[in-house]
Amino acid sequence: MTAWDNVKDRYVKAASILRLEDEIISELLGFKQRLSFDMMAQVNGKMESLKVVRVRHRAPLKKMAYKGGLRFLKGTTLSSMESHAAEMSVKCWIHELPYGGAKGGVDLDPRQCSPKELEAISKKLVDELDERVAIGPALDVPAPDVGTNATIMFWMAEHYSFKHPREFFTHGVVTGKPVVSGNESINRYLGGIHGRKEATGFGVMRTLSAFRNKLFSFGETPTMIIQGFGNVGSHTAKFAEQEGFRIIGVSDEFGAIHNSMGISVADLEAYCSASKPRSVVGYPRAEAVDKEELLEMPCDVLVPAALEEVITKDNAAAIRAKVILEGANGPTTPEADEILEDRRIVVVPDILANSCGVTVSYFEWGRNTDQSDPRIPMENDAGKVLMAAGTMMDEASAAVLRRVEKYKIAPRLAAYVFALEKAELLRVRRMPEYAMKLFG
Ligand code: NAD
Repeated sequence: MTAWDNVKDRYVKAASILRLEDEIISELLGFKQRLSFDMMAQVNGKMESLKVVRVRHRAPLKKMAYKGGLRFLKGTTLSSMESHAAEMSVKCWIHELPYGGAKGGVDLDPRQCSPKELEAISKKLVDELDERVAIGPALDVPAPDVGTNATIMFWMAEHYSFKHPREFFTHGVVTGKPVVSGNESINRYLGGIHGRKEATGFGVMRTLSAFRNKLFSFGETPTMIIQGFGNVGSHTAKFAEQEGFRIIGVSDEFGAIHNSMGISVADLEAYCSASKPRSVVGYPRAEAVDKEELLEMPCDVLVPAALEEVITKDNAAAIRAKVILEGANGPTTPEADEILEDRRIVVVPDILANSCGVTVSYFEWGRNTDQSDPRIPMENDAGKVLMAAGTMMDEASAAVLRRVEKYKIAPRLAAYVFALEKAELLRVRRMPEYAMKLFG
């Protein structure tokens, strides 16, 4: 089974719980667009032909934009983006964001490129996508993903704006653009939003809080192990520590560390920032352990926040956590899901737990494109932005939990059911009024 087969299976199960018509199901199992082309660019001083892919899943309404990450990663293929695009739809719909899901990228190792080459690739990509009518603030709105970042998003937005001098709202062509603290006039030019970089980790912990005492409970100082100490892992660790969790294990691509007495997140962050390359390896106030073994060490909450398919049929029986809290996309395979369910280990699913990133991206896009959705906070303050996103996370989590109860299903399937209910609502209720200005 491919990752897309697994996602299809969940769409079919959720649609049959809701007794949706066959025509709607067939539509959900296909794509609006699967784009694949080659682009010439300079990599490490040599001209190369790079493979570019972009998949758009389905939007509830014809004139809605598509939203999803754009990665620069070796091995990126059209088929590997299909499941991600369809999962992005679920993440958007559970928050009633007026989008269809998308995902794409370039088959490229950005570490091979000089900054000048990366800038040229980012701008050429805008040209090539634009030529194919596959990018635009009301059409398809990429965001940072593996191997891309705020600077790349800025180059893309700047180039798109330069190419479309007569168009309004051109900053909304991508999200995840930079912000500089304390300089709001520069920020208006850059077009980013405060709170975006910590949003996903914040939302991961907010989902855990919503599920806590409903599907599981912990003692006074619950323990947590985190795989990955990048954006999602490090912010999850920071918010978890603030909420009284003891972080006892952390890994990254280079190795893993463990200390049953607890690891100070600020101290670890300072250590990692000073290491080149950034890594937890060698951290003096913890023991070095094998990074695969770390996943099987006892804890209350295990947070995979790095890669896809790390909890599989081969290690699911050995996991000794009460809860798996999915920060990464697709870290648990369907076979592992079944084993964990039999063992009564609750999986808090990625499509809900890490959806705060796209929620804050929506706020950014909404501000760039002058949407009047009352949910969008207008303050230039990370705390206010996260508070608004937290309210939306709480509402979506409560709705998913109600469906867990009602249909006696796992939270992952319940999130699909809720997403499809919302997509149907959007479809029959027509465009939300606040989106009319842009799409109307
Ligand atoms: P990142 O590049 O900032 O961090 C990834 C971390 O994983 C790094 O610490 C890296 O060393 C580590 N890692 C890589 N291979 C590993 C291995 N074999 N074992 C242990 N650690 C390993 O990426 P990120 O933005 O934190 O994204 C992590 C995951 O979360 C991805 O699946 C991404 O798609 C997903 N996600 C990210 C966001 C976001 O806002 N950044 C939003 C939703 C989902």
